[in-house]
Amino acid sequence: MDLNFSEDEIQRYARHILLREIGGSGQARIKAARVLIVGAGGLGSPLALYLAAAGVGVIGLVDADVLELSNLQRQIAHSTEAVGTPKVASAAAAMRRINPLVEIHTHDMRLDAANVSALIADYDIICDGTDNFPTRFMLADACVAGRRTLISAAVLRFEGQLSTFKPHADPAGPCYRCLYPEPPPEGLVPSCSEAGVLGAVTGVMGTLQATEVLKEITVIGASLSGWLLLWDALGAEFRKIRLRKDPACPVCGSL
Ligand SMILES: [Zn+2]
Repeated sequence: MDLNFSEDEIQRYARHILLREIGGSGQARIKAARVLIVGAGGLGSPLALYLAAAGVGVIGLVDADVLELSNLQRQIAHSTEAVGTPKVASAAAAMRRINPLVEIHTHDMRLDAANVSALIADYDIICDGTDNFPTRFMLADACVAGRRTLISAAVLRFEGQLSTFKPHADPAGPCYRCLYPEPPPEGLVPSCSEAGVLGAVTGVMGTLQATEVLKEITVIGASLSGWLLLWDALGAEFRKIRLRKDPACPVCGSL
């Protein structure tokens, strides 16, 4: 591991390096990591900002959307001036303002079955910050097939959930399909654009997601593989429930 940090890096990451669990070797792991953020929205904003600030060496951002005024209530990587411009460009500019040392790859495109495998192959850890079930399921399946760690968060109204899926590295750990075998019938589960979401709830969940990314990179603490973290903001309650691998899962059962 390259521990050759510049004076700028030593000062910039001093509060990480002070942590016994991270130190110089953990910061070197962070610098060597490649993380893909799918969705530059409510979850993707704190992910992008904290991972850039933390010094993740290469960060990819995927989103095909153009910034709308209604996004700004929660998508804090963006600014009013950027309305009408691609979200990946706006988020990348905010990340570079925080940390010009990180390499940012913008993918202004919609993920589909034809491009997902090649895209995730370039990264170690994939963050799902999308807002629709077809993309979530496609990304989750591609991560199992491509043996990539998936850290997946979701929000709606005043609630959030978070888990890590890495059945390739944790044989007892489930994949997304062990938890949700099939997408819900269209229209059954409303989206944030239909049901609303408190902006700060997306910020908390995206920040928890960024924390789990940094834990996976530095291999510290308890992984959320095999666990689902649930947060009810109105009740101010967190719960952590055990997830079991489905031995008959068509996606990860053969791993
Ligand atoms: Zn599975």
